[in-house]
Amino acid sequence: MRILGIETSCDETAAAVVEDGHFPLSNVVASQIAVHAQYGGVFPEVASRQHIRTIYAVVNEALEQAHLSLEEIDAIAVTRGPGLPGSLVVGLNMAKGLALASHKPLIGINHLEGHIYSAWLASQEPGDHHPPQFPLLALLVSGGHTELILMTDHLVYQRLGATLDDAAGEAFDKVGRLLGLAYPGGPAIQEAARNGDETAFHFPRARLEGTWDFSFSGLKTAVLRTVQDLQKSGRGMPLADLAASFQAAVVDTLVSKTLHAARTFRVREILVAGGVSANLALRRAFQEQREFPVHFPPPSLCTDNAAMIAAAGYFHYLAGHQDGLDIDVLPTWPLLTTETLSAPSAS
Ligand code: ATP
Ligand code: MG
Ligand code: FE
Repeated sequence: MRILGIETSCDETAAAVVEDGHFPLSNVVASQIAVHAQYGGVFPEVASRQHIRTIYAVVNEALEQAHLSLEEIDAIAVTRGPGLPGSLVVGLNMAKGLALASHKPLIGINHLEGHIYSAWLASQEPGDHHPPQFPLLALLVSGGHTELILMTDHLVYQRLGATLDDAAGEAFDKVGRLLGLAYPGGPAIQEAARNGDETAFHFPRARLEGTWDFSFSGLKTAVLRTVQDLQKSGRGMPLADLAASFQAAVVDTLVSKTLHAARTFRVREILVAGGVSANLALRRAFQEQREFPVHFPPPSLCTDNAAMIAAAGYFHYLAGHQDGLDIDVLPTWPLLTTETLSAPSAS
C-alpha cells in the first residue's frame, strides 16, 4: 500500500510516498526557513505564496524519487489542519486535484496526528523496525503544541494535558531570540548549549501539581530577567551556560511529567514526537531512564514533513476512512478521537 502525503500547514512545502505506513520511499521537504528568517518568524502571506511556487515541483520530486507514477499510488493523504489557512489551502487543493485526476481516495489528516505517526516511520531496514505498541503515552512537543496524549489503539486519542501558555518549541524560539540566536531557536539553542554548564543557572521548572498540563512562560521570563541582569552588570553573556541551563529546565519538565503520567496510566511504551523531539538532550534524558521503552521519529522526520502525513493516512485508510472532494481546511482543528474523526465534520 503506497500513500502519497502532502503537507503545507506552515512554512514547509512537503510531499512523500510511504509504503505500508512505515517505510518512506521518498521524502521531499522544501523549507522556507531562509525566506522567513529575516522576519524572525513565519510570515503567513509569504508562506502561502511560497507554497504555490513550489508545490508542483515538490510533489513531482516525491513521485520521481519513489520511482512511481500517480497511477501506482493507492491514496492521497493531506494535512487539513491545524495550521495557517492560506498555507493549508495550497496543499489541500493540490491533493484534491490529484485525487480527482487519478480517481484515488483522498484522506484529510490532522497535522498533530501526523507528528504522532512519524514515530511509526522506519529509519532502518524493514527487518529492524519495531513500531510502537499500545497502550502508549504520546508526548507531542512542537512549535505550536505541547500535549500529553494517551493512545489505547490506532487513531484513538485521549488528551491528558497541554501547555497553558507557550509550546515547548515556541519557548525555544522565543528564548533563542532573546539570546540573539538565529531562527528557529530550537536547533540554535541545542548547538549553543553544547559546551555549556547546565547547572550554571537554576531556571524554574513549573510542576503544575495535580494536572497533566505544562507551562513555559515563567521559564522564558526567568531567562529574560537573567539576561537583563547580566547586561546591567556588564559581566558579559555566558551564552553556552544560559542555553544549556534553559534546555535542561525544559527537558526536566517534559521528562518528569511524562514518566509520571506513564506510570499513572500504566502504559507499555512512550512516544515522543514533534520538532522538539529532535532535541538531543531530550532524547538522551528519555533514553537514560530504564522504566519504559521510548520511541522517537527518525531525526530528520521530527519537524514538519509529509511522510508523517502519509503514515497517518495509511492507518486511516486501513480503518476505511475517506473524504469527499468538498472538504475544506480546518485551521484550528484539535486532535480528536476516532469516533469524531470518522464522522465527516461540517466545515
Ligand atoms: P505545530 O506542529 O505545533 O503546528 P510546527 O509545525 O511549527 O508547529 P514543528 O515543525 O513540529 O512545529 O517543530 C518546529 C519547532 O521545533 C520549532 O519551535 C523549533 O525551534 C523546534 N525544534 C526543532 N529542532 C529542535 C531541536 N533540535 N531542539 C529543540 N527544538 C527544536
Ligand atoms: Mg516549520
Ligand atoms: Fe508541525
